Amino acid sequence: MPLRSASLPETLAVILNDENTEVLIVTGAGLSKASGVPLYRSESGQADPFYERCGRRQAFLADPEAAWGHWRHIHDTPAWRNAQPNVGHFALSVLAEHGNGRIKIITQNVDGLLVQAGCPSDHVIEIHGRLGAFRCSNTTCHRSTRDPIVDTQHRSCPDCGTEALLPLVLLFDESLGFHQEDECHKAFQAHKAQEWMRWADVLLLVGTSCSTQATDRALELASKRHVPIWIINPASVQPLEYNTYGPPGCRPSTEEVDGRCVRHIRERVEDIAMRLLPNDDLRAHVNARMAA
Ligand SMILES: [Zn+2]
Repeated sequence: MPLRSASLPETLAVILNDENTEVLIVTGAGLSKASGVPLYRSESGQADPFYERCGRRQAFLADPEAAWGHWRHIHDTPAWRNAQPNVGHFALSVLAEHGNGRIKIITQNVDGLLVQAGCPSDHVIEIHGRLGAFRCSNTTCHRSTRDPIVDTQHRSCPDCGTEALLPLVLLFDESLGFHQEDECHKAFQAHKAQEWMRWADVLLLVGTSCSTQATDRALELASKRHVPIWIINPASVQPLEYNTYGPPGCRPSTEEVDGRCVRHIRERVEDIAMRLLPNDDLRAHVNARMAA
């Protein structure tokens, strides 16, 4: 079955059974919304001005104590601390686990919920990092750790001795460095992510307003290779740029733009999660994992 005319579950079934095709799923805040995780950006993709002011590398270097104070103020809340994976996380995790390495996920979320839902760590890249971990601010030092942050402003890097540490989260004034070698901290795995983008036969964008470097690059590479692109977003999201190909409110709609096939499904991610799965076996896995 040609992937360009297949439905999404048919596409995923093909990928599960065909050793020669791969799918890349890029997830955003819409996936974690049902888990109560607060948004850094509005649904139109605009960053919250307070987050954007505090969540900058320059802020951490200029006044680490104040910056870490703001950081904790934002993140040390029950909504962040108590968030649990929802059915969307479990469904994507089961897909990745059963995809024989051909279903890969790049998540822009820093909540760790996909991994918590059981997503195999070698099939997922947390491209914006993970909350609660830190890294060295020295750009030539690649030290990072998942250890909890404790009194970070008084710690120094065990590898290079640099005193300023940063959260292991991509900050608003930092770049993933897709176009420049070694621009970005290795912990974000930007180069590996780009390789996944280059090889994907299908691109699936889930719960993202497509307003970041990661989604720009994924769309750019998928468009060049004319691979099918699926976009799943709540109807309320006003996507930017690439997503404006399709007429709003359609479920799903298909647009051919310069030979590219972009299809939109406008429903909440958690509402379609189980329908993404191509067979009852996988749905049973999701139910079992959610009940565990
Ligand atoms: Zn260091």
